[in-house]
Amino acid sequence: MLAKELYPFMQVYALIIGLAVGSFLNVIIYRLPNNKSIVKPRSKCTKCDSQIAWYDNVPVLSYIALLGKCRKCKNPISIRYPLIEFICGMMTLMLLNIYGPSFEFIVMILISYMLIAITFIDVDYFIIPNEFIIFGFIISIISHSFKLLPITVVQGFFGSLTYGGMLFIMGAMGTFIFKKEALGFGDIKLGLVLGSFLGIELSLLALFFSFIFGGIMSIILLIAKEVGDDHMIPFGPSIAAATLLTILTKTIGGGNHIINWYFTTMWNGEYFF
Ligand SMILES: [Zn+2]
Repeated sequence: MLAKELYPFMQVYALIIGLAVGSFLNVIIYRLPNNKSIVKPRSKCTKCDSQIAWYDNVPVLSYIALLGKCRKCKNPISIRYPLIEFICGMMTLMLLNIYGPSFEFIVMILISYMLIAITFIDVDYFIIPNEFIIFGFIISIISHSFKLLPITVVQGFFGSLTYGGMLFIMGAMGTFIFKKEALGFGDIKLGLVLGSFLGIELSLLALFFSFIFGGIMSIILLIAKEVGDDHMIPFGPSIAAATLLTILTKTIGGGNHIINWYFTTMWNGEYFF
């Protein structure tokens, strides 16, 4: 085990790495759906096209220093950039504290970054790019090949069937009821990939939350009249948020706080009237 004295340094590193990844995710979210190169041209202002100097590209801090405005053209910079950086930084720090310095931590943080990027792309474009599905699939193959997860490959396989299969069934039912495509095929593919990391039990938990989040989001969007004429509401963000919540509520040994709470408190009848 690593010396306890090293933990504060690791946490600072985790935060910095998370912020930097968030900065990179901003580039992916902006460029991937538009088929632009992710590595090539340096970051530019989306309004005036001027190159952004490195000191104006420091995650979160530059946004605060610039008061949210481009140095050249003074147009506002979207709050989304520092927000995504902040979310990635905090996610990395929290997952390090939950999973400890382990391979499982690395797997879970990679999946989390993927889910954060998917959320914002799905909100903007109503698509889950195949690149993410392939990325998740490769991470899944590596994780199970080297046994980096607390579940077996068989549990992963059934988790995959559970998550993807349930989404497929719900989507088919939705299509039947509403007479139009209710869930995209991208959502089902994402479910197949995510289930392989979670196993059956956690997949069911994530599914449960994804439907709650999806319902809440639909109601908010309908009230705010943010739903377009096609009545499309992206389900990817709900799947992502539900899976992140499931990942964040893990207990040592592969269990889950919410499932434990359910079986110890709810099941004992304490909350039944
Ligand atoms: Zn500008």
